[in-house]
Amino acid sequence: MRILVVDDSRMARTALCQQLEGFGHQTAFADSGAEALVRTRDEDFDVVLVDFRVGDMEGVEVCWHLRAAQGAKHLYLMLMIPGSITNQFFEVVENGADEFLRKPLDWAWLRARLLAASRVVDMQRQLERLATTDSLTGALNRGRFMGRAADEVMRAQRYARPLSAIMLDIDHFKKVNDTHGHATGDEAIRSVVRVCRSLVRGADILGRLGGEEFAILLPETPPQGAVLLAERLRRALAVTEVRIPGGVGVTFTVSVGVSALKPGEESVSALLARADEALYRAKNGGRNRVVCDETVEV
Ligand code: GH3
Ligand code: MG
Ligand code: MG
Repeated sequence: MRILVVDDSRMARTALCQQLEGFGHQTAFADSGAEALVRTRDEDFDVVLVDFRVGDMEGVEVCWHLRAAQGAKHLYLMLMIPGSITNQFFEVVENGADEFLRKPLDWAWLRARLLAASRVVDMQRQLERLATTDSLTGALNRGRFMGRAADEVMRAQRYARPLSAIMLDIDHFKKVNDTHGHATGDEAIRSVVRVCRSLVRGADILGRLGGEEFAILLPETPPQGAVLLAERLRRALAVTEVRIPGGVGVTFTVSVGVSALKPGEESVSALLARADEALYRAKNGGRNRVVCDETVEV
């Protein structure tokens, strides 16, 4: 796991980090509550180990702030408390710590508690993945896509950066299912995601919005670039052959709509609605084509 040690004593944290690394964990440290807040905001940690006192802050206070600021992240918080303290256990947990460790630390006990913590951390990760991705393709599900899209729209407006959207729908997909079976249909859906992933950039956001409908958000991309990518996707998908064991090779086409964020526009739904309208026109125009929102200058 990645563990952040929050302790203002250099000697204590060096000894602790050494032990943790010996147990196979990666470590980093913060020597104040404020630094711990910044680091957990900017980096990913699984566990935070907080000393009972960190500079002029109570460790329990640090836990409270970390818990309040964690947002969508899951932090497993462990507070180290002196052995002399015997009556504040409830407060410690109530203020956000998941667990407390008695000082001086017993390394065997620490190792065991970290193993238990890793089970909780793994479970949270698994739940997070189940709640945010589509199990057939691994793409973001509608809910998470919309959440990420809202963040991107805000960012694009704040820094006056371009942002484009692509909506893509498989043509006559019902016929693919009816003619070749549902398994082949599923494989076609998977291949859309595979091909999209191979052609988009790392910062682009791909979601499966519904059955055989997908959306891609392209930060830092003006509509001209989005249309080029959409055309590349359309062509690549048209020659992608879907095969399932014992089945025949099947090809399919997609229709694509493209739109771009307008200055001052703050809603994701307006951006996507215009991509959807463009997609609708692509369908009506005969399918297997890319149409750009006409209110965008390309
Ligand atoms: P169009 O060109 O107008 O888009 O025609 P279409 O047949 O693709 O139209 P429509 O969007 O109405 O059909 C979608 C079909 O996708 C209906 C549904 O049975 C199928 N579908 C939805 N989700 C899945 C899935 O997860 N797997 C499979 N195999 N089929 C799905
Ligand atoms: Mg369709
Ligand atoms: Mg559809």
